[in-house]
Amino acid sequence: KSVKPEKAAPAPPPASDVKISSRDRVLFPDSGQTKGDLADYYNRMAPLMLPFVANRPISLVRCPQGRAKKCFFQKHDSGAFGDHVLHVPIREKGGGSEDYIYIEDADGLIACVQMGTIEFHGWASRADAVEKPDRMIFDLDPDEGMAFAKVKQAACDIRDHLANIGLVSFAMLSGGKGVHVVVPLTSGHDWETHKDFASRFAQALSTAEPGRFVATMSKAKRKDRIFIDWLRNQRGSTAILPYSVRARAGAPVAVPIEWDELDEMKNAHPFNLADADKLLARFKHLKGWGFVAQQLPEI
Ligand code: ATP
Ligand code: MN
Ligand code: MN
Repeated sequence: KSVKPEKAAPAPPPASDVKISSRDRVLFPDSGQTKGDLADYYNRMAPLMLPFVANRPISLVRCPQGRAKKCFFQKHDSGAFGDHVLHVPIREKGGGSEDYIYIEDADGLIACVQMGTIEFHGWASRADAVEKPDRMIFDLDPDEGMAFAKVKQAACDIRDHLANIGLVSFAMLSGGKGVHVVVPLTSGHDWETHKDFASRFAQALSTAEPGRFVATMSKAKRKDRIFIDWLRNQRGSTAILPYSVRARAGAPVAVPIEWDELDEMKNAHPFNLADADKLLARFKHLKGWGFVAQQLPEI
């Protein structure tokens, strides 16, 4: 039996020196984690997160008084984020443009936490090429109460269908109820092509297996089925980013996994913000998750 060390090992030097106020404020009343715990988590995870989070427009779920109180989904700088949170003008549908936010380093991540951010959501394109998406996400949204085994099987089937058309994909547990199948892409094509591809792929699956899949959001039609949420792939949509904490009970996190690990997963939220050590150790064994140079095929 191993002996417990008397004192915890000293924390590694912080990746950011942005000041966090009210470190003791409890943000997760069910599990007791505080704003300080959240900042420490993001500080430690910054090296893993930034390749997926930096330099793309983000939206934040902010819960300044904790997840049980009012939270808001924020796309723009309210003026208080400071110098580490950067702005990129993006053309709006109705004409004109709005400044969206992005970050480029750990200071940016922590500046968002200081402002009460729990969740980080990202666009499927980069801030320096907003009109050219570079990742496609199939967000599997199971009907209420569906067994997770069915979600896992669906994710694997989608991976196989994608492989059949020459696309490598990766699995991420959302930290909520579903699995995201993530397809990194070399950017070049436009949003129209991106959305059209995603929509037709989801449609083809639901047409082939109408008892398992739906491609429309309607909850009524979801009955014991999985909604393949392809709408994450429209211009302006976002999806939860790898290693983001979720503003849900128990402070679960979104976690990239290897396909061969999926089978042993009992649900989509096996890790939480207290698991930074585990996640850092796991990362060493992830084989290039999320990185592959490939283009959308013509279908
Ligand atoms: P789960 O596995 O539980 O479905 P999820 O992250 O996939 O977790 P969804 O409800 O499927 O959750 O996805 C909702 C998506 O919509 C999020 O990815 C987020 O980026 C986006 N979103 C969330 N809140 C808002 C909002 N208020 N306005 C616009 N988009 C939002
Ligand atoms: Mn989902
Ligand atoms: Mn969804």
